[in-house]
Amino acid sequence: MNNTLALHGGTKTVTTKFQWPIFDEGDVEAVTEVARSGQWGNPDCSGLVEKFEKDFAAYCGSKYAMTCANGSVALRLALMAMGVRPGDEVIVPPYTFIATASIVIEANCVPVFVDIEPDTYNLDPEKIEAAITARTKAIIPVHFAGLACNMDGIMAIAEKHGLRVIEDAAHAHGGAYKGKKLGSIGHAGCFSFQSSKNLNAGEGGLIVTDDEQLYDRMNSLRNVGRVKGGQWYEHHYLGCNYRITQLQATLLSKQLERLDAQTQQREANGKYLSELLAPIEGISPLTTGHGETTHTYHLYIFRYDKTKFNGLSKKEFAETLAAEGVPAFMGYPKPIYEQPVFQKKNFMCYAIPEEVDYTNVHCEVAERACYEEAVWILQHAMLGTHQDMEQFAEAIKKIQRAVTA
Ligand SMILES: *Cc1c(COP(=O)(O)O)cnc(C)c1O
Repeated sequence: MNNTLALHGGTKTVTTKFQWPIFDEGDVEAVTEVARSGQWGNPDCSGLVEKFEKDFAAYCGSKYAMTCANGSVALRLALMAMGVRPGDEVIVPPYTFIATASIVIEANCVPVFVDIEPDTYNLDPEKIEAAITARTKAIIPVHFAGLACNMDGIMAIAEKHGLRVIEDAAHAHGGAYKGKKLGSIGHAGCFSFQSSKNLNAGEGGLIVTDDEQLYDRMNSLRNVGRVKGGQWYEHHYLGCNYRITQLQATLLSKQLERLDAQTQQREANGKYLSELLAPIEGISPLTTGHGETTHTYHLYIFRYDKTKFNGLSKKEFAETLAAEGVPAFMGYPKPIYEQPVFQKKNFMCYAIPEEVDYTNVHCEVAERACYEEAVWILQHAMLGTHQDMEQFAEAIKKIQRAVTA
C-alpha cells in the first residue's frame, strides 16, 4: 500500500487536475462580440446587463435583481438602502468572509457577532434573540459553503422584532431551502461573482429583492444617486459608481447556463463524499442542514479531530492533504472579531461608538471551527468524478495510517 506521504516525497493520492473557471468557445465568442461592438459600459444600448438581471431574478424567483461591482458592495448597498442610521446594530456570524461584517462598519453601523451552529456552521437562531437590543436593525445570515441557514427560524425572529434580513448568498448561487432559492427568502439576497465563486465573471455582485422601493433606492446608490426619470447630472442620494460592464454581463449569462448542471454534480459528489468519510474515525462531515435544501457545495466542509491523527494539528493536516493532491485548505485562521481590524478598531473614518469593544467577544463554536475542526475542499474539486471522491477519502486514510503507524 502507498504509505509515504506526498509531503515527504511519496506519490500523490489524487492525480486529477481540477479546472476553474470552466468555459468554452461559446463564452469566448460572447465576450468577443461585446468587445467588437464597442459597447462595453453600462448604461449602453445593448442591454446585456439588464438581460442578465432579468434572467437572474427569474432564476431566483425574485421580482428584481440589480448587478453591482462585487458581493461586498451588494451587501452594503442593501443595508444602506434599508435606511439604517449611524450606530444601528446588525447581527452577523463570525465564521464567514470578512466582508459580511466589514460592510456593516462601512455603513456606519455596528456588527454584533452571534455564534454558529456546530453541525452546519451557520448562524444559530437560538442565539440571536439574546443579542437583540433597541438598536438592532438587521440580520445578515450567511449560507455558508452553500448550505441553507435555518431561514424559518431566522425570519420568525426578524418578524417578531421588526428586523430586516439580508441573505449573504455569496456561496449559494442556485442553492435552495424548502423549495425557495437562497437569496429570495429574506428582504434582500446578495451574491458575489468573484473568481472563486460558483458563478463568476472575475468580479461582480448582485442583489435580489421583491421590494420595489428598496430596489429603486439601491439602484440610485449604485448609480451615483441618480433617480428614475432624473437628469444625468442630477444626484439625489449619496451613491457612487458601482456598475458592472456589458463584458461581465455577457460572461455571466453564459456561465448561468451551466450553473444547474454544476450544482447537481457538486451535490451528488458531496453526498457521496460524506458517505465515504463518515466511517473514518476523527472525520465528521457537517449535516446537510434543516429542511429540504439544495447544497451548492461552494465548499465541502468536514470536521477534523486531531486526537485520532496522533495530535497532528489541523493546519498541518490540511497542508498534508493538499500535498496529496486534494484541493483542501484549513479555511479561516480566526473568527472575524479576532482580526486586527476589529481588535484594534482600525475603522478609519467610520464613526463607531467608543464603547464598542471586540476584545471580549467570544463565540465558542466559531473559534473551535477555526482553530481545531474545519477543513475545506474547494468547489471546483467537487465537480470531479466519483473516483476523485474515492481518492479524496483514500488520501485522508493514508494520512491517518502514516501518522498513527
Ligand atoms: C466572497 C464573499 C463576499 C464578498 O464578495 P466579493 O465579490 O469578493 O466582494 C461576501 N460574503 C461571503 C460569504 C463571501 O464568500
